[in-house]
Amino acid sequence: MASIVEISSEKCTGCGVCVIKCPTQAVALVDGKAVIVRSKACNYCTECETLCDFGAIRCPFEIILVEPEVGK
Ligand code: SF4
Ligand code: SF4
Repeated sequence: MASIVEISSEKCTGCGVCVIKCPTQAVALVDGKAVIVRSKACNYCTECETLCDFGAIRCPFEIILVEPEVGK
Protein backbone atom coordinates (compact mmCIF):
# COMPACT_ATOMS: atom_id res chain seq x y z
CA MET A 1 0.00 0.00 0.00
CA ALA A 2 1.44 3.34 -0.98
CA SER A 3 -0.15 5.30 1.83
CA ILE A 4 1.71 5.52 5.10
CA VAL A 5 0.72 6.52 8.57
CA GLU A 6 2.16 9.87 9.63
CA ILE A 7 3.30 10.44 13.19
CA SER A 8 4.22 13.82 14.64
CA SER A 9 7.08 13.28 17.07
CA GLU A 10 6.37 16.76 18.46
CA LYS A 11 2.77 15.91 19.36
CA CYS A 12 3.38 12.31 20.44
CA THR A 13 3.55 11.97 24.21
CA GLY A 14 4.59 8.32 24.13
CA CYS A 15 1.39 7.23 25.90
CA GLY A 16 1.55 3.91 24.05
CA VAL A 17 -2.17 3.59 23.30
CA CYS A 18 -1.59 3.15 19.59
CA VAL A 19 1.07 0.52 20.26
CA ILE A 20 -1.28 -1.48 22.48
CA LYS A 21 -4.25 -1.18 20.13
CA CYS A 22 -2.61 -1.62 16.75
CA PRO A 23 -3.90 -5.00 15.51
CA THR A 24 -0.80 -5.69 13.43
CA GLN A 25 1.98 -4.46 15.74
CA ALA A 26 3.04 -2.07 13.01
CA VAL A 27 3.72 0.73 15.49
CA ALA A 28 6.10 0.67 18.45
CA LEU A 29 7.63 3.10 20.90
CA VAL A 30 11.19 4.06 20.07
CA ASP A 31 12.89 6.43 22.50
CA GLY A 32 9.49 7.30 23.93
CA LYS A 33 7.85 8.15 20.61
CA ALA A 34 5.53 6.17 18.39
CA VAL A 35 7.19 4.97 15.22
CA ILE A 36 5.93 2.80 12.37
CA VAL A 37 8.36 -0.08 12.63
CA ARG A 38 6.62 -2.50 10.27
CA SER A 39 5.04 -0.42 7.55
CA LYS A 40 4.23 -3.48 5.44
CA ALA A 41 2.23 -4.94 8.33
CA CYS A 42 0.05 -1.82 8.64
CA ASN A 43 -3.36 -2.52 7.15
CA TYR A 44 -4.39 1.12 7.35
CA CYS A 45 -7.28 0.37 9.69
CA THR A 46 -6.99 3.94 11.09
CA GLU A 47 -7.50 2.67 14.64
CA CYS A 48 -4.40 4.50 15.84
CA GLU A 49 -5.64 7.80 14.45
CA THR A 50 -9.01 7.32 16.12
CA LEU A 51 -7.50 6.46 19.50
CA CYS A 52 -4.71 9.01 19.78
CA ASP A 53 -5.87 11.75 22.13
CA PHE A 54 -3.11 14.07 21.01
CA GLY A 55 -3.70 14.17 17.26
CA ALA A 56 -0.17 12.86 16.79
CA ILE A 57 -0.93 10.05 14.39
CA ARG A 58 -2.71 10.42 11.10
CA CYS A 59 -3.79 8.13 8.32
CA PRO A 60 -4.13 10.44 5.34
CA PHE A 61 -5.94 9.08 2.36
CA GLU A 62 -5.18 9.98 -1.17
CA ILE A 63 -8.36 11.34 -2.70
CA ILE A 64 -8.76 10.70 -6.38
CA LEU A 65 -11.45 12.69 -8.11
CA VAL A 66 -13.10 10.84 -10.93
CA GLU A 67 -15.15 12.62 -13.53
CA PRO A 68 -18.70 11.24 -13.66
CA GLU A 69 -19.43 9.37 -16.84
CA VAL A 70 -22.02 11.27 -18.84
CA GLY A 71 -24.95 9.40 -20.40
CA LYS A 72 -25.03 6.41 -18.08
S1 SF4 B 1 -1.50 7.23 20.88
FE1 SF4 B 1 -0.67 9.17 20.04
S2 SF4 B 1 0.48 10.14 21.72
FE2 SF4 B 1 0.14 7.97 22.28
S3 SF4 B 1 2.01 6.91 21.58
FE3 SF4 B 1 0.50 6.77 19.91
S4 SF4 B 1 0.92 8.55 18.57
FE4 SF4 B 1 1.95 8.92 20.54
S1 SF4 C 1 -3.45 2.15 10.78
FE1 SF4 C 1 -4.01 0.33 12.00
S2 SF4 C 1 -2.48 -1.23 11.42
FE2 SF4 C 1 -1.65 0.78 10.80
S3 SF4 C 1 -0.39 1.49 12.51
FE3 SF4 C 1 -2.46 2.34 12.80
S4 SF4 C 1 -3.54 0.86 14.13
FE4 SF4 C 1 -1.71 -0.17 13.27
